[in-house]
Amino acid sequence: MRITDVRVISYPLGKLERPYRNSILTTTNKGLSFVEVLTDEGVTGVCFGGNRATIEGSIKARLVGEDPLDAARLWHRMFTGWRKPVAKGDAIAAIGCVDNALWDLRGKILGQPVYRLLGGFRNRVPAYAAGGYYEDGKGLPELAAELTGFVDAGYRAVKMKVGGAPFPEDVARVRAAREALGPDIQLMVDANNAWNAAEAIRFGRAVERYDLTWFEEPCWPDDLEGAAAVCRALDTPVASGEIEYTRWGCRDLIERGAADIVQADPQTTGGLTEWLRIAALASAHHLPMAPHGNHYVGAHAVAAVDNGMIVESYAGLHPWQDEFLAPMRLEDGELVLPDTPGLGIGVDRAALERAASR
Ligand SMILES: [Mg+2]
Repeated sequence: MRITDVRVISYPLGKLERPYRNSILTTTNKGLSFVEVLTDEGVTGVCFGGNRATIEGSIKARLVGEDPLDAARLWHRMFTGWRKPVAKGDAIAAIGCVDNALWDLRGKILGQPVYRLLGGFRNRVPAYAAGGYYEDGKGLPELAAELTGFVDAGYRAVKMKVGGAPFPEDVARVRAAREALGPDIQLMVDANNAWNAAEAIRFGRAVERYDLTWFEEPCWPDDLEGAAAVCRALDTPVASGEIEYTRWGCRDLIERGAADIVQADPQTTGGLTEWLRIAALASAHHLPMAPHGNHYVGAHAVAAVDNGMIVESYAGLHPWQDEFLAPMRLEDGELVLPDTPGLGIGVDRAALERAASR
């Protein structure tokens, strides 16, 4: 079997009714985008994607005519030969999109779900709902209602944003969340690179009494020394790495002690092929993996390895996706991996085409 084409299909879906923001960015638009890898035998790999110019240009040129089963060889072909081997940046995320579509394709060729091809450590994984963003008109009662709504939907762990409001207000938001959730639900906070080390340590100490499962991205991404200082200062584990690229970027994060929990995103970091290498590196340092990003891919990653901790889910944050993507089954706070070949992402293309043309 040979690869014949690689393409990106995007469905812009208009404006969100209510924009939401974290400490650094505001999200205003809805949309879905896919990468497809086509073959001469009619089997097609699909995953989420973007960056059409790079994927349909240089990356496609490196893949057409190749055997899709050669995971490590194709990753190396995508990484080299058309650019200097720089290990960070948008090109790595584009490689990651295609690598994940290639894994979906391999699963379909071999008749196996991807998590089994990657390692098959287990077939269900703990999941948390990502939410608790800032929105106009969203006060403490609305925040509490949103987070307890995730628990009502079946989650046993939820994450909220911090770093985007004045310090006392953020502390009050975390207190309100813990009081609403009670002691048995895991709660994480995510600062999205809001602070320097001194500010982050001060905040971390102020919310330590609320029994946080982790404190995410306290410092700027290049400030590994600062993040390491936060790790040393707090009992709360620091989670980081969602915008770190490749095994080399994550090596620096890990070796400099800048994360207690590694959050490499299976798309951003260069795809599931590279994510597995990072998971092995983290395992050698006795660190768990809690991948950032879409649970449709992240659940396969967490299920594949012995140090998979928990997977992020945007299901509560992006309820509009339910119209287009078949949900993954959630039982007792755990996502159940699909046993269909590939990644098992069920996409209603007809509904997407209708919605995108509206
Ligand atoms: Mg985050």
